[in-house]
This record gives sequence, structure tokens and C-alpha cells, in this order.
Amino acid sequence: MSVKGAVTGRAAFNRKDLTGQRFGRLIAGESVSVMGKTQQKLYYKCECDCGGEAFAMAQSLRRGATLSCGCLQRERASAASKRHGMSHTSIHNTWMTMLQRCNDPKSDSFSRYGGRGITVCERWHTFENFFEDMGLPPQKGMTLDRFPNNDGNYEPENVRWATAKEQANNRRSSRLLEFNGETLTVAEWEDRQGFRRGLIHTRLYMGWTPERAITQKPLFDQTD
Ligand SMILES: [Zn+2]
Repeated sequence: MSVKGAVTGRAAFNRKDLTGQRFGRLIAGESVSVMGKTQQKLYYKCECDCGGEAFAMAQSLRRGATLSCGCLQRERASAASKRHGMSHTSIHNTWMTMLQRCNDPKSDSFSRYGGRGITVCERWHTFENFFEDMGLPPQKGMTLDRFPNNDGNYEPENVRWATAKEQANNRRSSRLLEFNGETLTVAEWEDRQGFRRGLIHTRLYMGWTPERAITQKPLFDQTD
């Protein structure tokens, strides 16, 4: 298994080597340090009891969040889908895709999700729990949106059903903006300045400099 930008060998920040230790069905093997979006992440190549292999974050192994190569989830999912009879529904597909993006290095989207350390909470590894928390999308065309934190994990506190437009807004609010040596998201700058949501984004869109967009008080206290 190879990962773009990977540095093999023991990482300097490796507090405690997990090589040889068992985590559920996994035995940790060689460690690999990968440069994530903001920091180095330590992964272990693991062998699974089923004969499969996994590429698991050290942090997830320690927390007990990764216990198999994915076979455990597949077994649970197939047992659960026999019970709930929803295995061919689109909500079930949504759930599977979410897990694959975060847990399966073979998924095309893994680099943008699991590879950046985005995880699915343990509770949602079971379809029935996910379905109980999220229900069906209230409108056609809505998909899962990580909100309020677009870079956060899939967990009940940080996921909503949203339209494509709402998701685009969410991504824009999560855009990073540097000013005065500080880097915050557009939404955080808006909160700090007491601006309404979307004001800074609109200003940047109109061609304002980040400094002016962040510092200039609005002429009127618009609420719309
Ligand atoms: Zn396995």
C-alpha cells in the first residue's frame, strides 16, 4: 500500500510504538507518517484476522475506533440490513458511502476524507443508529453536510441534511482567511466582528481586500 507524500519509518513524534500490538481483529505492523492538511499523522499497516489488511491511524487504534480491516463493519452491516430490510435503499447507500470515504483507503474519495483524519463516530458504524439519528432527508436532493464544521467528523453534533446550495455556503464559510498574522475561517471572522453571516464572503466576491472586508463596519445593521 502506498500513500502520496508518505514517509516510512518511525516518526519522531511517535510516543509509543504500537507495532505488534492487537486492536480488536488487527495486529499493528509497520508505522507510516503521512503529512495531513495541518499536521503529520501516524498510521500503521495492520494485518486483520480475516486475512485482510488495514491502514489505520494510530489515534483511531488507541481510541478503539478501528478494530478491523472493515470486515467487522461489513458483517455488522449485512446482519443489520437483514434485520432492517433497507440494504438497497438510497439512505443505506449514503451511509455506506460515508463509511467508505473515511475508512476504506481503496475508495476514490479516501484522500479527501479518511486520509485527512476525518472519521465516522463509533455509533454510526451501525446503520440503525445512523438512521435513528438522521432519519430520511427532509427534501429530495439533500445530502449529508458536515455542519457547523466542514472539516469535522461525521457525528450527530456535526452533520445535517442540506441542499447543494447550503453546502456551498457552508464550504465558503469554512474558507480560511489570513489577516494580521491570524488565520480564521470566514465564519469565525464574521462572528468575531459581529457581522452577519455571509457579509465577508460577499465583500470578497465584490473584490474587496481581506483587510477591508474584515475591518470595515457595515453602514447599516442589516439583518437580511
Ligand atoms: Zn478483516
